[in-house]
Amino acid sequence: MTYRTSRVAPLVLLLLLGWSRAAAQGPAAPVGQTPKEAPGDAAGDEGPSAQVENPLGDVPPDDPGMESYSHGNYLLYLVDILWSAAFLAIVVFSGFAATLQEWAGKAGRSPNRRVAIYAVLFALVTFAGGFPLDVYAGFLREKAYGFANQTFAAWLGDRGKRLLVSAIVQAIFFVILYVTIRRLGRRWWVAGSILAVLFVILVMAIYPVFIAPLFNTFEPLKDARLRAEILEMARREGIPADEVYQVDASRQSSHDNAYVAGLLGTQRIVLYDTILEQFTPREIKFVMGHEMGHYVLNHVWKTIAFLAPVLLAGFFLVDRVSRRVIESRPGLGIASLAEPSSQPLIVLVFSVFLFLAGPAIATFSRMQEHQADLFGLEATHDPVAAASSFLKFGRLDLDEYHVHPWIEALLYSHPSLTRRIGTAQEYARGHGATGTSSERSGVRRSDR
Ligand SMILES: [Zn+2]
Repeated sequence: MTYRTSRVAPLVLLLLLGWSRAAAQGPAAPVGQTPKEAPGDAAGDEGPSAQVENPLGDVPPDDPGMESYSHGNYLLYLVDILWSAAFLAIVVFSGFAATLQEWAGKAGRSPNRRVAIYAVLFALVTFAGGFPLDVYAGFLREKAYGFANQTFAAWLGDRGKRLLVSAIVQAIFFVILYVTIRRLGRRWWVAGSILAVLFVILVMAIYPVFIAPLFNTFEPLKDARLRAEILEMARREGIPADEVYQVDASRQSSHDNAYVAGLLGTQRIVLYDTILEQFTPREIKFVMGHEMGHYVLNHVWKTIAFLAPVLLAGFFLVDRVSRRVIESRPGLGIASLAEPSSQPLIVLVFSVFLFLAGPAIATFSRMQEHQADLFGLEATHDPVAAASSFLKFGRLDLDEYHVHPWIEALLYSHPSLTRRIGTAQEYARGHGATGTSSERSGVRRSDR
């Protein structure tokens, strides 16, 4: 439920499968390239940085930086998936999965303890396996594009914390999962997927309150006027919010974003401090309108309802494929599915399944993001600010405007920026007045 496209897989699935690198990072924005050159704000906001000029006009071509950064992201996504799958296959088929169980067995004989220790060891192994790519994609490349604001030591510290959190989350999850495998035999996958859904709900509920604050400081939005305006908008839309949060995301990176997270009373609307610096109040209000759309339209629950049958199918596949592999390859040293040593095989089968299900999940997500854009437009009646914010995301975060339709269909969790600007243009055409304030003339505002 973020504002910008980051990566495809939902954060919670990544947390669940903590071995994957992508979790919190997304495409990006060089600090040197702030939009300060556009003086004044065509629409009268006194934002810290101006609104884009003529935002409802034709979408400009992608500049080389946007292209190279975005295309690199697609490639990295593919390399990450292929390497992760290959690495897991090596762990399983080299017999290392069984060796890990011997090590875990030394720590105790209780089945639950062995599963938990195994999960922690496995988290460490996968972390090590992904580390080189992680350093390149998460640090070196982000630094080269001017997004990373951390030293290597600080980045590594955050990464270590993330490893700790995912090791704990995975240990708890696998202990529960293996109890169902031991108790229910061949039918475990039904109960297992129900448990996974409950677990997703739990992790989503605790994320904003217990996990996110481990990495950043959250505080009420400091700008009192903006805060009052946003809360007023929330009240109009029937959202019982009494606070809007800002987070010091600039500690890690200059990427811009905003999100809604939480469930069961922990819901939070959060703005990155980077967005507060770079966006005008009108643009921020549109971004907030988009996030409120996710909230009002119940997107978190709908996503869970959508994922439930997906998880069920995935667990069914895990059961059938893993059993077949275990039975046909006794040399691997995995005695049965109920043994902890089947963990890497389970994760391998499940991640191949997720990769195949990825385009369907991404399409579902794009649909929700489009609805949230429409909601934001209705809530603010400000297509100029909407289009301006999309143009800024492209320029500051190097998200290319013009995305190949296949790339968009397969990988994008959000509609491409061109498509989102198109939605704003359409709204402006349908609602006359608001949109016409920016004429299509190349010459800029001499008015205000
Ligand atoms: Zn969104």
